[in-house]
Amino acid sequence: LGPDYSFMIRVAIPGGVLTPEQYLALDRLADELGNATLRITTRQAIQYHGVRKGGLKPLMQVLNRNLLTTLSACGDVVRNIVACPAPFADRQRSELMRYAKELSDRLKPRTRAYYEIWLDGERAASLEESEPLYGDTYLPRKFKIGFAFPGDNCVDVYTQDIGIVPVVGERGLEGFTLLVGGGLGQSHGAKDTHPVLAKPLTTVGPEQFFEVVEAIVKVQRDHGRRDDRKFSRMKYLVEAWGIERFKAEVERYVGYALPEARPLEWLSGDDHLGWHEQGDGKLFFGLFVENGRVKENLRAAIREVVQRFAPEVRLTAQQNILFVGVDPSDQAAIEAIFRNHGVALPGTLPLAVQNAMACPALPTCGLAITESERVMPEVIREFDALLGRLELHDGPIPHVRMTGCPNGCARPYSAEVGLVGRSLGSYTIYLGGSPLGTRLGQVYLDNVKREEIVNRLEPLLAAYKHERLEGEAFGDYCDRVGVGTLRERFGDLASV
Ligand code: SF4
Repeated sequence: LGPDYSFMIRVAIPGGVLTPEQYLALDRLADELGNATLRITTRQAIQYHGVRKGGLKPLMQVLNRNLLTTLSACGDVVRNIVACPAPFADRQRSELMRYAKELSDRLKPRTRAYYEIWLDGERAASLEESEPLYGDTYLPRKFKIGFAFPGDNCVDVYTQDIGIVPVVGERGLEGFTLLVGGGLGQSHGAKDTHPVLAKPLTTVGPEQFFEVVEAIVKVQRDHGRRDDRKFSRMKYLVEAWGIERFKAEVERYVGYALPEARPLEWLSGDDHLGWHEQGDGKLFFGLFVENGRVKENLRAAIREVVQRFAPEVRLTAQQNILFVGVDPSDQAAIEAIFRNHGVALPGTLPLAVQNAMACPALPTCGLAITESERVMPEVIREFDALLGRLELHDGPIPHVRMTGCPNGCARPYSAEVGLVGRSLGSYTIYLGGSPLGTRLGQVYLDNVKREEIVNRLEPLLAAYKHERLEGEAFGDYCDRVGVGTLRERFGDLASV
């Protein structure tokens, strides 16, 4: 007998868009080959956990039959491209999704080996020509691309290797502002690794868009560090060169000068939960999925809604789910399904819970140092109870995110309160990120026991209550006062 391996399998879903048939196929696979759950990721993908070795091939074959793939959901390639999933029925939104899909298709590896190994294609790997974009050695490291809609930063566009924000005009999408060099991962013990937000590079017209994005990927392919994986994300190349030299190199690849980037303005980072009019007579409904884990009664309820009403399904970059194209006459019946299954509807849960995210961590992630998804429900409810005791429910509710290691998959460094697994049962607390995703938090305290986290935040929130400006978010308050100052004032204090 060989070892009893089990695997995590990730399905790449550009923009998180699924037909009802595709969603139901994914749901069935969870029972047949997974651990009876679906995990929505922060990149609008689906993960299966606990897939046995013998289940890999059948799983990928079912995916392929449903026009889905795991190809480039992992690895040193352009990963699943994220895009704001809000399905408002205007031309600009649908164009945004079309661009995201086309870019995803253009940047997929052309390998046939994947099909041979997993899908029983004709044997051809030994005859393969070099990948046109990826060459023989692919990219130095994973590469993330995200599309935001102007003003709407639900995808955390500054955390991407390439962040893309369209310029919207009367004629649809008239151009794209490109941000480069974002990335959140860092390694404890490798002091120079750190999270970075992307910087503006240029604003280009639709006719240059694909060429310039591909050139950026090629610059990273050819110049990104390959000697040390801890420093091989594009953010370190952009930092080492500076944005001007990086831009000059992209210009050399495309053969023309790139204009200045236009300024950006952000109004919201919210995740489109609840009911919304699409603008075409239909509705969409954003359902909160705690930490992206679709299981048990929630999974049954979603399946019933999709089977009965056949909405398009869109996964969000905050691990939630949108049901698209709902007839207004079905609204009450859909709500009833969720209620009958005991699923909380948006608006009935504390906002702190709805704003929170956690990564999978233990027991399914091999890199995890601490718990995340399994303890976050308790931590965030303790946090919400604290907000209640301090009578802070009437103001902006802080975004709290937790990960089980410094890789930062649930983007804790761009949250107002980030909790990052540090050592067994202990976390680093980051404070001061912006609710709009435009500023990173800074280390407030290190090595805080999970049971102490909320206690440690209490004196800070009490001070925030008295010292905040009108409408000021907690993250903005921490940044204004200074995380270092707050540490001096409250770092030794915990509530008793
Ligand atoms: Fe795993 Fe770390 Fe990512 Fe969490 S942040 S899923 S522990 S790699």
